[in-house]
Order: sequence, then structure tokens, then C-alpha cells
Amino acid sequence: MAEGDKTPDDAELLRTLTPAQYAVTRLRATEPPFSGELLNHHEEGTYECVCCGQTLFKSDAKYDSGSGWPSFVEPASDESVSTRSDTSHDMNRTEVICSRCDAHLGHVFDDGPAPAGRRYCINSLAMRFSCAQPQQGLSESSNQ
Ligand code: FE
Repeated sequence: MAEGDKTPDDAELLRTLTPAQYAVTRLRATEPPFSGELLNHHEEGTYECVCCGQTLFKSDAKYDSGSGWPSFVEPASDESVSTRSDTSHDMNRTEVICSRCDAHLGHVFDDGPAPAGRRYCINSLAMRFSCAQPQQGLSESSNQ
């Protein structure tokens, strides 16, 4: 899983995700604030969809919003995430989903830092972190 264009089906996700990861990404639950493992995570690298492995956010766009959830000023690229209107819980919000597998990630708000003013408020449970390391093939070839 997580390689190529393959989008995992529901049975596979039930098997591979933790119940908490499944609840957030497929049932649109929200993790409790200040509970996520990636909230105070500051390593250089990328944040990937926990369901399909797509790159969602980069560490240089991450900032501390004080909200209790990992926050980003922008997605890794325009194609990384999709948004749609979410009127659940008597609120008018914009939901952020993985553009490849439709995993629920969180919401985006207009109270982020300048210049873009966006705050992508994302559940830690919807992502996994991938360290920024030179790809093996590339680093080795320079010594040959
Ligand atoms: Fe995904």
C-alpha cells in the first residue's frame, strides 16, 4: 500500500489503520486538541496521508497556531488536498480532504498568518511523518 496510484479500499483500511486513525480519516472524527503525536513535531520532512501515502504538507509550512492541532499555512502543492463545504455541527467550515483517497484531514480557516492568511488545521491521526533524507540511489551515485 501507499505506493503508486493505488487507493486503498475500506476493508484494507480497517485492517491497517488503528481504530482512531480510521475514525478520523473515514468517519470524519476529530482528535482531542493537544493530543496528537505530530503537534509539536519540528523535524524537516513531509507529512503524508496515513491512508494512501500521498504527500500532503511540508514541514516548512508548519507553524504553532495554539489551536492544539498541527497547523500549516499551505498544502505541499495545489494538488495535494481538496476542500469541500462542511455544515455539520451547526458550523460553516471548509473541510480538507486528501485529493487522492478522500481521507478526512481537518479544516482550513481564514485566520492564519500573513501573507496567505490560511490555517490548515489538521488531525495528527490523519498523517504520518516522513523524514527529509537524500534518496539512497542519488546519494550513492555521487561517489561512483
Ligand atoms: Fe490519501
